[in-house]
Amino acid sequence: MPDSAPQNQFLIAGGGIAGLATSIALGRMGLPVRVLERAEKFTDEGAGIQLGPNATKILEQWGVLDRLKKKAVSSEGIAIGDGLTGDHLATVPFGQTAQERYGAPFLLVHRSDLHNALLDVARTYSGFTIEMNTQALSFVQSTEGVSLKTNTGEMKGRALIIADGLWSQLRYEIDRGAALQFTGYMAWRALIDADEMPEPLQAPWTGLWLGKAAHLVHYPVCGGSKVNIVAVVADRWGGRSDGWSHEGDRDFLIPYFDKWSDLPAQVVQTPKAWRTWPLFKMPPLRAWTQGAVTLVGDAAHPVLPFLAQGGGMAIEDAAVLARTLEKHEEDPWQAFQPFEEARIERTARTSFESRQMGTIYHMGGLLRMARNFVLRRRSPEALLKRLDWLYEFQVD
Ligand SMILES: Cc1cc2nc3c(=O)[nH]c(=O)nc-3n(C[C@H](O)[C@H](O)[C@H](O)COP(=O)(O)OP(=O)(O)OC[C@H]3O[C@@H](n4cnc5c(N)ncnc54)[C@H](O)[C@@H]3O)c2cc1C
Repeated sequence: MPDSAPQNQFLIAGGGIAGLATSIALGRMGLPVRVLERAEKFTDEGAGIQLGPNATKILEQWGVLDRLKKKAVSSEGIAIGDGLTGDHLATVPFGQTAQERYGAPFLLVHRSDLHNALLDVARTYSGFTIEMNTQALSFVQSTEGVSLKTNTGEMKGRALIIADGLWSQLRYEIDRGAALQFTGYMAWRALIDADEMPEPLQAPWTGLWLGKAAHLVHYPVCGGSKVNIVAVVADRWGGRSDGWSHEGDRDFLIPYFDKWSDLPAQVVQTPKAWRTWPLFKMPPLRAWTQGAVTLVGDAAHPVLPFLAQGGGMAIEDAAVLARTLEKHEEDPWQAFQPFEEARIERTARTSFESRQMGTIYHMGGLLRMARNFVLRRRSPEALLKRLDWLYEFQVD
Protein backbone atom coordinates (compact mmCIF):
# COMPACT_ATOMS: atom_id res chain seq x y z
CA MET A 1 0.00 0.00 0.00
CA PRO A 2 1.49 3.41 -0.87
CA ASP A 3 2.44 5.48 2.16
CA SER A 4 0.15 8.53 2.38
CA ALA A 5 1.80 10.22 5.39
CA PRO A 6 3.39 13.66 4.84
CA GLN A 7 6.99 13.36 3.70
CA ASN A 8 8.37 16.29 5.67
CA GLN A 9 8.08 14.23 8.85
CA PHE A 10 10.93 13.16 11.10
CA LEU A 11 10.94 9.36 11.26
CA ILE A 12 12.02 7.91 14.61
CA ALA A 13 12.90 4.21 14.79
CA GLY A 14 12.15 3.03 18.35
CA GLY A 15 9.64 4.26 20.94
CA GLY A 16 11.74 3.82 24.11
CA ILE A 17 12.95 6.66 26.33
CA ALA A 18 15.17 8.10 23.57
CA GLY A 19 12.52 7.89 20.84
CA LEU A 20 9.76 9.45 22.94
CA ALA A 21 12.01 12.12 24.46
CA THR A 22 13.08 13.09 20.93
CA SER A 23 9.42 13.17 19.86
CA ILE A 24 8.66 15.70 22.61
CA ALA A 25 11.72 17.84 21.91
CA LEU A 26 10.80 18.06 18.20
CA GLY A 27 7.07 18.35 18.94
CA ARG A 28 7.80 21.48 20.98
CA MET A 29 9.30 22.99 17.83
CA GLY A 30 6.14 22.18 15.88
CA LEU A 31 7.91 19.50 13.82
CA PRO A 32 5.94 16.45 12.62
CA VAL A 33 7.18 13.17 14.10
CA ARG A 34 6.34 9.58 13.18
CA VAL A 35 7.57 6.91 15.62
CA LEU A 36 7.91 3.32 14.48
CA GLU A 37 8.00 0.84 17.34
CA ARG A 38 8.74 -2.85 16.91
CA ALA A 39 6.88 -4.03 20.02
CA GLU A 40 3.21 -4.95 19.86
CA LYS A 41 2.60 -3.03 23.10
CA PHE A 42 4.68 -1.40 25.80
CA THR A 43 5.22 -3.60 28.85
CA ASP A 44 6.42 -2.63 32.32
CA GLU A 45 9.58 -4.72 32.12
CA GLY A 46 12.65 -2.96 33.37
CA ALA A 47 11.41 -1.96 36.82
CA GLY A 48 13.01 1.17 38.27
CA ILE A 49 15.04 4.01 36.87
CA GLN A 50 16.85 6.77 38.74
CA LEU A 51 16.77 10.21 37.15
CA GLY A 52 19.44 12.74 38.08
CA PRO A 53 18.86 16.52 38.06
CA ASN A 54 20.44 16.73 34.58
CA ALA A 55 17.45 14.74 33.26
CA THR A 56 14.68 15.99 35.57
CA LYS A 57 15.51 19.61 34.70
CA ILE A 58 14.71 18.87 31.04
CA LEU A 59 11.61 16.83 31.92
CA GLU A 60 10.37 19.75 33.99
CA GLN A 61 10.72 22.16 31.05
CA TRP A 62 8.79 19.71 28.87
CA GLY A 63 5.90 19.35 31.34
CA VAL A 64 6.70 15.66 31.85
CA LEU A 65 7.59 16.08 35.51
CA ASP A 66 4.11 17.37 36.37
CA ARG A 67 2.65 14.09 35.11
CA LEU A 68 5.32 12.00 36.77
CA LYS A 69 5.65 13.63 40.17
CA LYS A 70 2.83 11.77 41.95
CA LYS A 71 4.32 8.43 40.96
CA ALA A 72 7.94 9.40 41.52
CA VAL A 73 9.84 9.36 44.80
CA SER A 74 12.18 12.23 45.53
CA SER A 75 15.42 10.61 46.70
CA GLU A 76 17.05 11.85 49.89
CA GLY A 77 20.37 10.48 48.66
CA ILE A 78 22.52 7.40 48.28
CA ALA A 79 23.56 5.45 51.38
CA ILE A 80 26.68 3.46 50.51
CA GLY A 81 27.45 0.36 52.58
CA ASP A 82 29.89 -2.54 52.59
CA GLY A 83 27.91 -5.66 51.68
CA LEU A 84 30.12 -8.04 53.66
CA THR A 85 30.15 -6.19 56.98
CA GLY A 86 26.96 -4.16 56.62
CA ASP A 87 28.94 -1.04 57.67
CA HIS A 88 27.80 2.34 56.44
CA LEU A 89 30.62 3.88 54.39
CA ALA A 90 29.37 7.15 52.93
CA THR A 91 26.40 9.31 52.00
CA VAL A 92 25.71 11.21 48.79
CA PRO A 93 23.02 13.76 49.71
CA PHE A 94 20.19 14.57 47.29
CA GLY A 95 16.79 15.83 48.55
CA GLN A 96 16.77 19.55 49.22
CA THR A 97 20.56 19.70 48.75
CA ALA A 98 20.31 18.53 45.13
CA GLN A 99 17.31 20.75 44.49
CA GLU A 100 19.21 23.83 45.71
CA ARG A 101 22.51 22.92 44.09
CA TYR A 102 21.22 21.84 40.66
CA GLY A 103 17.76 23.42 40.51
CA ALA A 104 16.04 20.08 39.97
CA PRO A 105 15.26 16.94 41.99
CA PHE A 106 16.80 13.47 41.94
CA LEU A 107 13.85 11.16 41.25
CA LEU A 108 13.21 7.43 41.58
CA VAL A 109 10.54 6.15 39.18
CA HIS A 110 9.13 3.04 37.67
CA ARG A 111 10.20 2.82 34.09
CA SER A 112 6.66 2.40 32.78
CA ASP A 113 5.54 5.53 34.72
CA LEU A 114 8.29 7.48 32.95
CA HIS A 115 7.38 5.93 29.62
CA ASN A 116 3.66 6.70 30.05
CA ALA A 117 4.40 10.29 31.06
CA LEU A 118 6.63 10.76 27.98
CA LEU A 119 3.99 9.22 25.73
CA ASP A 120 1.19 11.36 27.21
CA VAL A 121 3.17 14.55 26.58
CA ALA A 122 4.27 13.45 23.08
CA ARG A 123 0.60 12.86 22.21
CA THR A 124 -0.28 16.47 23.02
CA TYR A 125 1.57 17.54 19.83
CA SER A 126 -0.66 17.34 16.78
CA GLY A 127 2.20 16.27 14.50
CA PHE A 128 2.98 13.16 16.59
CA THR A 129 2.05 9.64 15.51
CA ILE A 130 3.23 6.25 16.72
CA GLU A 131 2.88 2.92 14.97
CA MET A 132 3.32 -0.26 17.00
CA ASN A 133 4.32 -3.64 15.51
CA THR A 134 6.51 -1.77 13.06
CA GLN A 135 10.12 -2.80 12.78
CA ALA A 136 12.59 -0.54 11.00
CA LEU A 137 14.79 -2.68 8.77
CA SER A 138 17.02 -0.50 6.60
CA PHE A 139 17.19 2.94 5.02
CA VAL A 140 18.43 4.75 1.94
CA GLN A 141 18.72 8.49 1.60
CA SER A 142 19.04 11.10 -1.11
CA THR A 143 18.86 14.88 -1.17
CA GLU A 144 15.06 14.41 -1.32
CA GLY A 145 14.96 12.71 2.07
CA VAL A 146 15.16 9.32 3.73
CA SER A 147 13.31 6.19 2.74
CA LEU A 148 12.89 3.64 5.53
CA LYS A 149 12.04 0.02 4.89
CA THR A 150 9.94 -1.60 7.61
CA ASN A 151 8.07 -4.87 8.02
CA THR A 152 4.84 -3.02 7.18
CA GLY A 153 6.08 -1.15 4.11
CA GLU A 154 8.29 1.72 2.99
CA MET A 155 8.08 5.16 4.63
CA LYS A 156 9.52 8.48 3.60
CA GLY A 157 10.66 11.32 5.77
CA ARG A 158 12.97 14.33 5.71
CA ALA A 159 15.18 12.68 8.34
CA LEU A 160 15.59 9.47 10.31
CA ILE A 161 16.47 9.36 14.01
CA ILE A 162 17.56 5.91 15.10
CA ALA A 163 16.48 5.20 18.70
CA ASP A 164 16.33 1.40 18.63
CA GLY A 165 18.33 0.84 21.82
CA LEU A 166 21.31 -1.23 22.90
CA TRP A 167 20.66 -4.00 20.37
CA SER A 168 20.32 -1.54 17.49
CA GLN A 169 20.68 -3.16 14.10
CA LEU A 170 20.41 0.12 12.20
CA ARG A 171 23.58 1.49 13.86
CA TYR A 172 25.61 -0.94 11.73
CA GLU A 173 24.48 0.95 8.63
CA ILE A 174 26.25 4.01 10.05
CA ASP A 175 29.30 2.31 11.58
CA ARG A 176 29.94 -1.24 10.44
CA GLY A 177 32.69 -1.60 13.02
CA ALA A 178 30.33 -1.11 16.00
CA ALA A 179 31.00 -3.88 18.51
CA LEU A 180 29.01 -4.64 21.65
CA GLN A 181 31.12 -6.41 24.27
CA PHE A 182 29.72 -8.42 27.16
CA THR A 183 31.15 -7.04 30.42
CA GLY A 184 31.10 -10.29 32.39
CA TYR A 185 28.29 -8.93 34.56
CA MET A 186 24.59 -9.71 34.69
CA ALA A 187 22.02 -7.37 36.25
CA TRP A 188 19.14 -9.02 38.10
CA ARG A 189 16.08 -6.87 38.72
CA ALA A 190 13.02 -7.39 40.91
CA LEU A 191 10.11 -5.36 42.26
CA ILE A 192 8.63 -5.99 45.71
CA ASP A 193 6.00 -4.32 47.88
CA ALA A 194 7.50 -1.60 50.07
CA ASP A 195 6.37 -3.30 53.31
CA GLU A 196 8.38 -6.42 52.37
CA MET A 197 11.59 -4.41 52.74
CA PRO A 198 13.52 -4.77 56.02
CA GLU A 199 12.33 -1.88 58.17
CA PRO A 200 15.65 0.01 58.44
CA LEU A 201 15.67 0.26 54.61
CA GLN A 202 12.17 1.64 54.07
CA ALA A 203 13.21 5.31 53.76
CA PRO A 204 13.25 7.22 50.42
CA TRP A 205 16.93 6.58 49.80
CA THR A 206 18.92 4.61 47.28
CA GLY A 207 20.78 1.84 49.09
CA LEU A 208 24.05 0.89 47.40
CA TRP A 209 25.92 -2.12 48.85
CA LEU A 210 29.38 -2.93 47.55
CA GLY A 211 30.92 -6.39 47.36
CA LYS A 212 33.59 -8.38 45.56
CA ALA A 213 32.40 -8.96 41.99
CA ALA A 214 28.81 -8.09 43.00
CA HIS A 215 26.82 -5.11 44.18
CA LEU A 216 23.27 -4.44 45.21
CA VAL A 217 21.05 -1.38 44.69
CA HIS A 218 17.52 -0.76 46.00
CA TYR A 219 15.21 2.22 45.95
CA PRO A 220 11.48 2.95 46.25
CA VAL A 221 9.34 3.62 43.16
CA CYS A 222 5.60 3.95 42.35
CA GLY A 223 5.05 6.75 44.87
CA GLY A 224 6.78 4.65 47.54
CA SER A 225 4.48 1.61 47.29
CA LYS A 226 7.11 -0.62 45.63
CA VAL A 227 10.85 -1.12 45.89
CA ASN A 228 13.08 -1.77 42.91
CA ILE A 229 16.01 -4.09 43.56
CA VAL A 230 19.01 -4.53 41.26
CA ALA A 231 21.70 -7.12 41.97
CA VAL A 232 24.73 -7.04 39.69
CA VAL A 233 26.91 -10.15 39.69
CA ALA A 234 29.91 -11.44 37.75
CA ASP A 235 28.64 -14.23 35.52
CA ARG A 236 28.78 -15.79 32.11
CA TRP A 237 26.15 -14.89 29.57
CA GLY A 238 24.27 -17.58 27.70
CA GLY A 239 24.40 -15.54 24.50
CA ARG A 240 20.64 -15.48 23.93
CA SER A 241 19.70 -13.06 21.21
CA ASP A 242 15.89 -13.09 21.65
CA GLY A 243 15.61 -9.80 23.49
CA TRP A 244 17.68 -8.81 26.46
CA SER A 245 15.57 -9.48 29.53
CA HIS A 246 14.84 -13.01 30.77
CA GLU A 247 13.42 -14.70 33.82
CA GLY A 248 16.11 -15.46 36.39
CA ASP A 249 16.28 -18.35 38.88
CA ARG A 250 16.58 -16.94 42.43
CA ASP A 251 18.29 -20.14 43.63
CA PHE A 252 21.14 -19.28 41.31
CA LEU A 253 21.40 -15.67 42.53
CA ILE A 254 21.12 -16.04 46.31
CA PRO A 255 24.41 -17.96 46.85
CA TYR A 256 26.32 -14.93 45.50
CA PHE A 257 25.26 -13.13 48.67
CA ASP A 258 25.80 -16.02 51.15
CA LYS A 259 28.65 -14.29 52.92
CA TRP A 260 27.01 -10.86 52.98
CA SER A 261 25.76 -9.30 56.19
CA ASP A 262 22.13 -9.89 57.23
CA LEU A 263 20.45 -6.71 56.01
CA PRO A 264 21.54 -6.71 52.32
CA ALA A 265 21.35 -10.53 52.19
CA GLN A 266 17.74 -10.29 53.37
CA VAL A 267 16.99 -7.84 50.54
CA VAL A 268 18.25 -10.35 47.96
CA GLN A 269 16.25 -13.19 49.53
CA THR A 270 12.92 -11.33 49.48
CA PRO A 271 11.81 -11.28 45.81
CA LYS A 272 10.20 -14.43 44.41
CA ALA A 273 10.69 -13.38 40.78
CA TRP A 274 13.71 -11.84 39.09
CA ARG A 275 14.56 -10.82 35.56
CA THR A 276 18.08 -10.73 34.20
CA TRP A 277 19.90 -8.36 31.83
CA PRO A 278 23.36 -9.01 30.41
CA LEU A 279 25.43 -5.82 30.70
CA PHE A 280 27.27 -4.64 27.61
CA LYS A 281 29.73 -1.93 26.76
CA MET A 282 30.68 -0.53 23.37
CA PRO A 283 33.70 1.54 22.37
CA PRO A 284 32.58 4.96 21.05
CA LEU A 285 31.32 4.74 17.47
CA ARG A 286 33.40 6.30 14.69
CA ALA A 287 30.25 8.13 13.56
CA TRP A 288 26.64 8.54 14.63
CA THR A 289 25.53 10.58 11.67
CA GLN A 290 25.15 10.09 7.95
CA GLY A 291 23.48 13.04 6.19
CA ALA A 292 19.93 13.28 7.52
CA VAL A 293 20.21 10.15 9.67
CA THR A 294 21.52 10.12 13.23
CA LEU A 295 21.53 7.96 16.34
CA VAL A 296 20.28 8.78 19.86
CA GLY A 297 20.16 6.99 23.22
CA ASP A 298 21.58 3.51 23.74
CA ALA A 299 21.80 3.00 19.97
CA ALA A 300 24.47 5.73 19.89
CA HIS A 301 26.19 5.22 23.25
CA PRO A 302 25.25 2.36 25.57
CA VAL A 303 26.10 3.32 29.16
CA LEU A 304 26.56 0.80 31.97
CA PRO A 305 23.98 1.40 34.72
CA PHE A 306 26.57 2.07 37.49
CA LEU A 307 26.01 5.84 37.35
CA ALA A 308 22.29 5.41 36.58
CA GLN A 309 22.55 7.62 33.51
CA GLY A 310 21.55 5.70 30.33
CA GLY A 311 18.04 7.14 30.31
CA GLY A 312 19.36 10.54 31.40
CA MET A 313 21.76 10.63 28.44
CA ALA A 314 18.88 9.76 26.08
CA ILE A 315 16.83 12.68 27.46
CA GLU A 316 19.81 15.03 27.13
CA ASP A 317 20.35 13.81 23.52
CA ALA A 318 16.78 14.74 22.65
CA ALA A 319 17.06 18.24 24.13
CA VAL A 320 20.40 18.91 22.41
CA LEU A 321 19.17 17.55 19.07
CA ALA A 322 16.20 19.94 19.13
CA ARG A 323 18.42 22.87 20.13
CA THR A 324 20.85 22.09 17.30
CA LEU A 325 17.99 21.89 14.79
CA GLU A 326 16.79 25.29 16.03
CA LYS A 327 20.25 26.74 15.41
CA HIS A 328 20.34 25.31 11.87
CA GLU A 329 16.92 26.36 10.57
CA GLU A 330 15.47 22.93 11.23
CA ASP A 331 17.63 21.42 8.50
CA PRO A 332 18.75 17.90 9.52
CA TRP A 333 21.56 17.88 6.93
CA GLN A 334 23.08 20.91 8.66
CA ALA A 335 22.16 20.03 12.24
CA PHE A 336 22.88 16.34 12.76
CA GLN A 337 26.68 16.51 12.51
CA PRO A 338 26.98 19.38 15.05
CA PHE A 339 24.55 17.44 17.27
CA GLU A 340 26.91 14.46 17.25
CA GLU A 341 29.87 16.73 17.98
CA ALA A 342 28.01 18.32 20.89
CA ARG A 343 27.25 14.95 22.45
CA ILE A 344 30.19 12.68 21.80
CA GLU A 345 32.51 13.87 24.56
CA ARG A 346 29.90 13.98 27.32
CA THR A 347 28.43 10.57 26.53
CA ALA A 348 31.92 9.03 26.25
CA ARG A 349 32.84 10.48 29.63
CA THR A 350 29.63 9.19 31.21
CA SER A 351 30.29 5.79 29.74
CA PHE A 352 33.90 5.79 30.99
CA GLU A 353 32.99 7.00 34.50
CA SER A 354 30.22 4.37 34.73
CA ARG A 355 32.77 1.63 33.99
CA GLN A 356 35.12 3.10 36.59
CA MET A 357 32.32 3.03 39.16
CA GLY A 358 31.85 -0.68 38.44
CA THR A 359 35.54 -1.31 39.14
CA ILE A 360 35.34 0.59 42.43
CA TYR A 361 32.10 -1.12 43.51
CA HIS A 362 33.52 -4.60 42.94
CA MET A 363 36.91 -4.30 44.64
CA GLY A 364 38.07 -7.12 46.92
CA GLY A 365 40.96 -7.68 49.36
CA LEU A 366 43.32 -4.78 50.03
CA LEU A 367 41.76 -2.60 47.36
CA ARG A 368 38.40 -2.96 49.10
CA MET A 369 39.93 -1.85 52.39
CA ALA A 370 41.59 1.13 50.73
CA ARG A 371 38.31 2.08 49.01
CA ASN A 372 36.37 1.84 52.28
CA PHE A 373 39.02 3.93 54.06
CA VAL A 374 38.72 6.68 51.45
CA LEU A 375 34.91 6.59 51.35
CA ARG A 376 34.60 6.84 55.13
CA ARG A 377 36.66 10.03 55.08
CA ARG A 378 34.79 11.76 52.25
CA SER A 379 32.16 14.22 53.42
CA PRO A 380 28.70 14.08 51.80
CA GLU A 381 29.41 17.51 50.28
CA ALA A 382 32.72 16.29 48.76
CA LEU A 383 31.04 13.22 47.25
CA LEU A 384 28.28 15.30 45.68
CA LYS A 385 30.79 17.81 44.31
CA ARG A 386 32.47 14.99 42.35
CA LEU A 387 29.17 14.59 40.47
CA ASP A 388 28.74 18.27 39.57
CA TRP A 389 30.02 17.65 36.01
CA LEU A 390 27.15 15.21 35.55
CA TYR A 391 24.23 16.92 37.25
CA GLU A 392 25.00 20.56 36.32
CA PHE A 393 24.34 19.91 32.63
CA GLN A 394 22.61 22.70 30.70
CA VAL A 395 21.45 22.68 27.09
CA ASP A 396 23.06 25.74 25.55
C1 LIG B 1 19.96 -2.96 34.97
C2 LIG B 1 19.79 -1.60 34.35
C3 LIG B 1 19.52 -0.50 35.18
C4 LIG B 1 19.40 0.78 34.62
N1 LIG B 1 19.17 1.83 35.45
C5 LIG B 1 19.10 3.07 34.93
C6 LIG B 1 18.89 4.19 35.79
O1 LIG B 1 18.73 4.05 37.01
N2 LIG B 1 18.85 5.44 35.23
C7 LIG B 1 19.00 5.62 33.87
O2 LIG B 1 18.93 6.78 33.42
N3 LIG B 1 19.20 4.58 33.04
C8 LIG B 1 19.25 3.31 33.53
N4 LIG B 1 19.44 2.26 32.70
C9 LIG B 1 19.65 2.51 31.27
C10 LIG B 1 18.36 2.81 30.52
O3 LIG B 1 17.38 1.82 30.75
C11 LIG B 1 18.66 2.88 29.02
O4 LIG B 1 19.80 3.69 28.79
C12 LIG B 1 17.50 3.49 28.27
O5 LIG B 1 16.38 2.64 28.37
C13 LIG B 1 17.85 3.70 26.80
O6 LIG B 1 16.71 4.13 26.12
P1 LIG B 1 16.60 3.90 24.54
O7 LIG B 1 15.30 4.49 24.15
O8 LIG B 1 17.84 4.34 23.88
O9 LIG B 1 16.55 2.31 24.37
P2 LIG B 1 15.40 1.30 24.80
O10 LIG B 1 14.79 1.69 26.07
O11 LIG B 1 15.99 -0.07 24.67
O12 LIG B 1 14.29 1.50 23.67
C14 LIG B 1 14.48 1.06 22.34
C15 LIG B 1 13.11 0.86 21.71
O13 LIG B 1 13.29 0.59 20.32
C16 LIG B 1 12.46 -0.51 19.95
N5 LIG B 1 13.11 -1.15 18.79
C17 LIG B 1 14.23 -1.92 18.77
N6 LIG B 1 14.55 -2.23 17.51
C18 LIG B 1 13.63 -1.64 16.70
C19 LIG B 1 13.46 -1.57 15.29
N7 LIG B 1 14.30 -2.17 14.43
N8 LIG B 1 12.39 -0.88 14.80
C20 LIG B 1 11.52 -0.24 15.66
N9 LIG B 1 11.65 -0.27 17.01
C21 LIG B 1 12.70 -0.94 17.51
C22 LIG B 1 12.40 -1.38 21.20
O14 LIG B 1 11.28 -2.23 21.20
C23 LIG B 1 12.35 -0.31 22.30
O15 LIG B 1 11.02 0.09 22.56
C24 LIG B 1 19.54 0.96 33.21
C25 LIG B 1 19.78 -0.14 32.39
C26 LIG B 1 19.89 -1.41 32.95
C27 LIG B 1 20.17 -2.59 32.06
